[in-house]
Amino acid sequence: MPRTLIKDLGKHIGEKVKIAGWVSVRRDQGKLVFFDFRDRSGSVQGVVLPKEELAMAVAKDIRAEYVVAVEGSVGERPAQNVNVGVLNGNIELKVEAMQVLAAAESLPFDMSLTGYNLDLPTELDHRALSLRHPKVQAVFKVQAVIIGSFREFMKSQDFFEFQAPTITPAMAEGGAEVFEVSYFDHKAYLSQSPQLYKQIVMTAFERVFSVNKIFRAEPSVTTRHLTEVVSLDAEMGFIESWQDVRDMAEHCVRFILDSVKTRCVEELKLLGADVPVMIEHTPTISLADALTKLGAPADKDLNPEQERRLCEMIKQETGSDFVFVYGYPTKQKPFYVYPQKDNPAVNEGMDLLCRGVEWLSGGRRINDYTQLMDHVAKWKMDPSKIAMFLEAFRYGAPPEGGFALGAERMTMQIVGLKNIREATMFPRDMNRIDGLLSSDEKKE
Ligand code: ATP
Ligand code: MG
Repeated sequence: MPRTLIKDLGKHIGEKVKIAGWVSVRRDQGKLVFFDFRDRSGSVQGVVLPKEELAMAVAKDIRAEYVVAVEGSVGERPAQNVNVGVLNGNIELKVEAMQVLAAAESLPFDMSLTGYNLDLPTELDHRALSLRHPKVQAVFKVQAVIIGSFREFMKSQDFFEFQAPTITPAMAEGGAEVFEVSYFDHKAYLSQSPQLYKQIVMTAFERVFSVNKIFRAEPSVTTRHLTEVVSLDAEMGFIESWQDVRDMAEHCVRFILDSVKTRCVEELKLLGADVPVMIEHTPTISLADALTKLGAPADKDLNPEQERRLCEMIKQETGSDFVFVYGYPTKQKPFYVYPQKDNPAVNEGMDLLCRGVEWLSGGRRINDYTQLMDHVAKWKMDPSKIAMFLEAFRYGAPPEGGFALGAERMTMQIVGLKNIREATMFPRDMNRIDGLLSSDEKKE
């Protein structure tokens, strides 16, 4: 008999079917044995009646996480047992035959839907098992939709997808912390950002995007920083001002939010998610105005506490969970960011904040070669280290800009998680690469 996916069982009431999957829960009630079976498509309750002696003989040893193939008939549940609003809440599989495909040892913790309640370190230490829990799976299903929707949106706007390199010769942007790689007889670095590469590729393909890993040697431990991040990057030529980039970024985020809301209804419900609200026109405020609003001294970047307060104020005033902040001090940002024409001390860079957390950075970049070389000198950079980048701009690059979104931060906030590690399947941070880093692994 061919396998039926559990989500389709409702179409087979009164019929014989075969399913295959895992046992989520076993419940013994008198002489009856109940199981919750789970496959990639959903869950269903099964019952083994005493008269099914062969099935009962197999069932007696089966516990949670056994992998089984089950044959039986799909029956409607009596009215008083119907679980309204739940997939298969109105049906039950009457088990007639069971086969164990793989046994499971007894679990180190309760994996049932309601009993599952792990602290974060335990959840991460046991990632191989915690991934099987529907709530954990829901997080990563949402994440897959976020990343898939980013691709879909960029393609719909005629952006070309390219693959950015991970091994880089030197730091893409001066200053920030990078991981060093020993590369044959040389030193190389893990890419902090595809920034310079996406700008190069833009000068050939005009509109480009990439979905890639970036690495940040963040020496701090926070709830929103990882050392390995999925970065959603875009760059576009022929803009008229940084607002064109802002608008594209806003449309992109709106598209992602809408597609999560329509495609992840079950997941959002299971997680009790309160998806951030994007109103028709996302409020956009200059850094200077934001600092005034906060009663903070001018010429400083926003600190995390100020980012939180600004978002709260904007939310109260407009109902928006998002705010664009633009116009950062030119000298404090990378050399390629475009300085405002009438006030070059301030640049055309922008951030998108959501509920106190930065989701996106971007803005207009310098495209004029002479101006770019002037910044390279002022930023005291060695032009020979970015020769490939400079070549792209020496030979004609249109006015341009772009942005980058962090997939884990978006996931964390869309589903309402407190810690970015919960929004990462295999998070890497200062203290963890799968397991906790122990002192005996410290390098000499
Ligand atoms: P922050 O100021 O919050 O540390 P950043 O300004 O250093 O972030 P960018 O270089 O602007 O980060 O990177 C673009 C986006 O990538 C960020 O807005 C964020 O969504 C994501 N991102 C960057 N660094 C990290 C990190 N260490 N962990 C998780 N996400 C990150
Ligand atoms: Mg940033």
